[in-house]
Order: sequence, then C-alpha cells, then structure tokens
Amino acid sequence: MAQCSAIDCIKQGTNHCGKCKNRLYCSRECQKKHWPIHKTQCGVKFPTIEIVDIPGKGKGVITKEHIARGTLIISEKPRIIVPDVLSPGGVKEALSQFSEEDLIFFLSFPATESWNIMDRFKHFTPCVGDDKRGLCETICRVNHTCFSPKGAPNASYFWNVNSKEEELRAIQDIREGQEIEVSYMSNASDYRDPLSHLRDNYTFDCSCPGCSRPASERRASAQKMFAYNKWVDDLPRRFGPDNPLSILNDIEEHIVSVCKEGWFGDVGRRAHDAFQLCAYYGDAESAQKWEAICRDSHALFHGEGSEEYKKSAALAADGRKFRAWSQLGRKKLRGPSQQVLNCFYPDV
Ligand SMILES: [Zn+2]
Ligand SMILES: [Zn+2]
Ligand SMILES: [Zn+2]
Repeated sequence: MAQCSAIDCIKQGTNHCGKCKNRLYCSRECQKKHWPIHKTQCGVKFPTIEIVDIPGKGKGVITKEHIARGTLIISEKPRIIVPDVLSPGGVKEALSQFSEEDLIFFLSFPATESWNIMDRFKHFTPCVGDDKRGLCETICRVNHTCFSPKGAPNASYFWNVNSKEEELRAIQDIREGQEIEVSYMSNASDYRDPLSHLRDNYTFDCSCPGCSRPASERRASAQKMFAYNKWVDDLPRRFGPDNPLSILNDIEEHIVSVCKEGWFGDVGRRAHDAFQLCAYYGDAESAQKWEAICRDSHALFHGEGSEEYKKSAALAADGRKFRAWSQLGRKKLRGPSQQVLNCFYPDV
C-alpha cells in the first residue's frame, strides 16, 4: 500500500483522489491540505513506465509509450527521507525509524556487499534545499548514463520545492520500450573523470557508451571539460574590464565545444551569462534573445511551474528588470548565433 500523498504525512493512503485516481490519501483532511498542490497535476496523464530487470544493470525503468522531450514523466513523493549527511549514529537512528516494509524496500536496493548499509544510501536522490535526501519507489530505480559525444541521458530529475516531490522529465524524445536514463552527475566538473567519480560516489563501474571509449578519447574529453571549468571560474572576473564582444565570442565557443562533448546541461547557464553581459550594457534586444534560451532550458529541466523558470521568463520578457541594467554603459552587442541555437534546439 502506498503512502498518503500529503506533504509530511507518513500514514498509508486508503482513498484515491476521486477525480484522477492518481493520488492516495489517508483522510479527507490530508486531501484538502494537498489540493492547492495537487490541483495543477490532477487529471494530468503521466506516460506509462515500468520497473524491469535490465541485463547487467540490476533494475531499471523503461517506457511503454513514446515520450516527447519536455514531458513530465512522473512526480513522486519520496517514500523514505533521511538527513543528507549521515553520521554512523545517524544511520542507526534513521534505520530504527523505518517501518518493517520500508526497511525491506530500502534493502531491495543493491550494494557492493550485501551487508553494506552505507552503499544503499547512495541510491537516495538529493532533495535540494532541505538538507535531506529521499528514496523514491520509481525515480530511484532509474539508471545512470553519462553525457558524452556517444550519447546522453534522456531524462533529468529535479526536486520541486513547492510540492516537495521529485520530478522526472524527458530531456530528449524517448521511444516506446527504451530505457529511461538520467545522469547522476549534476556538475560539468564531475565529467573531468566520470569513471572515478561514479565509482567513489555511487560504487559502480560505468559502462555507458561514453565511458566505453578508448582511454585516449576519454582523456581528451576530460581535458576539454577541465579547460571549460577553468574558463567558467574565470568568467565573472572578466565582466567589466574585458571587451564585451570578445567575452560573447568566448561564451559561444564554449557552448559549442561542451555540446560536442554531449554536455548540454550548461547551455542555459551560459546563455544567462551572455544575457547578463548584454544587460550590463543595456542591449535589450540581444539580452532577451539570450535569456530565452535560459528560460527554455529551465522549462526542459525544471518545468514551467518552477521558480527558476518564472524568474528567467520575467527577464526574457523584459531585460530591464535585471538588477544592474546598463550599469556598464550602453553598447550594442549581439544575440546567439545559429550554431548556439542548434546546440539547444535539436529540431531547428
Ligand atoms: Zn495523510
Ligand atoms: Zn486528482
Ligand atoms: Zn559513463
């Protein structure tokens, strides 16, 4: 039996939402309390997906129907929530609070050694901003693949601070029968050495198409990601003293180069850098074109209901709302090139 859908309620759900039957509640009170959040999703039909055994990978999730890029695949309340950082005492404490059913659920996740409890906490997804992490019935069964020139994950997960649910979104079209895959690595810097990062943090040896390349190719990729991260770190210091057009050229060059490495997770962030630059120089037209990419990236990865999307959409509609509008004077810069647009909008 599944848990009540209301935030923070850990009772078992007994009654479905009468309208959509997608949600379970323990009581009328919980259903009423949850309605302001549920009403945006009540009636939304999520694609049919299934947890199955995947040869060589344990369990995984496949889709039973075609899923278009941008679709919300599932929104899920974590079944178990624990503090993000667990001391040995904290682990004991957390385990003692699991119900017997939850303990069986927790132990159904794999570990390198069957007795190793700590390994199993690695399956929890971070719940950003709450200093907690959660174990979801479905989303935590989704396997990892790396962003690489040989392939990329087709989905991405995101913690919705309003609904306190983990959301899984399609960031590429997913064919019927295809496995749904996310990247467990959220930063470009993790891609300097993905194999060691995944071994140290998630205790598995990645055999994705990117990690299966010859060592020389992987080294060349790692070097490019290293150079990219160094450039990102240096970028803020260049605002002001440097020629803004040369910074814009650099931003474009780096967007195109990391996209060749398969890493399109950063296109929105870099487009926002370019927006800021144009906004500092009071170029409204160019600023809005850049921020539109950032806005669309938030829609793809976080959904249109997210604070990130709303903030960006407001700036894309009117760049003059930027806190430092025209602070460095006035100068006509330029919007994104076609090459940059091609990196983010695959069908253009
Ligand atoms: Zn309840
Ligand atoms: Zn409903
Ligand atoms: Zn990999």
